Order: sequence, then structure tokens, then C-alpha cells
Amino acid sequence: MPKKKLEDALSSLKALGHRLTAPRKAILEVMAAESRPLSVEDIHHYVEQQTPCDLATVYRNMDACLEADIVQKCMLENGKVLFELVGEHDHHHHIICRKCERTDRIDLCLTEEMKTVASSLGFTEVSHVLELYGICSACK
Ligand SMILES: [Zn+2]
Ligand SMILES: [Zn+2]
Repeated sequence: MPKKKLEDALSSLKALGHRLTAPRKAILEVMAAESRPLSVEDIHHYVEQQTPCDLATVYRNMDACLEADIVQKCMLENGKVLFELVGEHDHHHHIICRKCERTDRIDLCLTEEMKTVASSLGFTEVSHVLELYGICSACK
């Protein structure tokens, strides 16, 4: 499955006119292989082992990927931001451990009613960021 996600991500970027540079490909490969939310620093650390790439390049690529809707942002309670590669119709949320940052997927989204309220207030292109936080069984 990660391979399909990677191919989809690459073709989405291509369709938007982004060139598939070596760092860009390496970034997406790492994200597809890890299948968990990663920080820009984590991504940079892995990519650098394959191809020269600076931190700013990773940041720029995350912006391009967010725009292309192939990456989802995940925010920790302490403000740290993580990024995760998502396929089409793969919208999901996470439960994140406050102590060790273990992150599990929650394949459920219950924000329809909120979207309805937002629309009734005249908003379009409504999106959301929603994460749950707790203490995992290992840290209890
Ligand atoms: Zn934990
Ligand atoms: Zn959602």
C-alpha cells in the first residue's frame, strides 16, 4: 500500500506542475515508508542520508504537499507540528501520547455537524485540524 500512496503523491505533484527533484522524491519516499506523522527534522534526518537536502527544502516541500492535499498536518499539544502522507479519501485523526509521543490512527471523523455550522455562517473551503491527546498504556 505505501507504494501506491507514493505513486499517487508523485503524480499529484506532477499534475500541479512541480518538478520531481531528487530531494522531493526522497522526502515522499521516507514519508510513505514511515506511515506515521513525522516532524520536518525527522524527515530531514532520513532524507539527508540519501541526497543533499537542507531543512528549508523540506519546509518548502511540506507547503507544496499541503497545497496538493497529499500531506496532512498533525499538531502536538506542545505546538510541535508533524506531517503525514495521506492518500485520497484517507482523512483521519490521531491519538497522541503526551509523554512518549506514540501516535495511533483514529479512522473516524465526526466533524460533519461542525462543517454544517461553518457553512451556515457563510464559510466555504472549510478544513480542520483535530488531534486527541492522552497517556498511552506504556506510560501509565
Ligand atoms: Zn506513551
Ligand atoms: Zn476530520
